[in-house]
Amino acid sequence: MQQMTEVIRLKYGNTACYLFQGTKKILLDTDWAGTLPRFFHELGQRRLTVQAIDYLLVTHYHPDHMGLAADLMALGIRLVVLDCQRAYLHHSDYVFEKEHNQFFRPINDQAIKLVKLANSRTFLHHCGINGTILSTPGHSADSISIVLDDGEAFVGDLYPLDQVALYHKPILTSSWRKLKVANVHQVHFAHYADEVIS
Ligand SMILES: [Zn+2]
Repeated sequence: MQQMTEVIRLKYGNTACYLFQGTKKILLDTDWAGTLPRFFHELGQRRLTVQAIDYLLVTHYHPDHMGLAADLMALGIRLVVLDCQRAYLHHSDYVFEKEHNQFFRPINDQAIKLVKLANSRTFLHHCGINGTILSTPGHSADSISIVLDDGEAFVGDLYPLDQVALYHKPILTSSWRKLKVANVHQVHFAHYADEVIS
């Protein structure tokens, strides 16, 4: 009998973030730099604590998905970076610099945990979670998705399936094909309502 993983949706700004409750807890995405008090409040509302979170994964390194990464690392949460994301960690730094965001801190590259996509199932298993992580580019080159064996996928800003035809982007079509091959039947986005795939 396969263990189902409880996933909690956290929203304290514009981005839906997800907390995977395995034997270890993985947070997927953060909101913008400066939202840390709202994140704490959101956790508090659910009687969760930041100390209980082991890892942070980021679906892609746009500012509304990684703004708190360095703050959370300073609080003891380990940032897990997939090999396909390694070159993108600082791609949003300029956005925060441009807006003179006093809260933003860049990621310390020395402190990250690098995981190869090919080893993602092993990593999730180590966290008590049955699933895998897929590279799903289209919205951005560094985009990844967490796919649970029960058929749920968490895809960040991947464009919804009903919009794919509008983009004429083979890489996007290929990302959705990967999700279908993985038997995904429900998709959770960062900014859209869930999509059920038949
Ligand atoms: Zn994005």
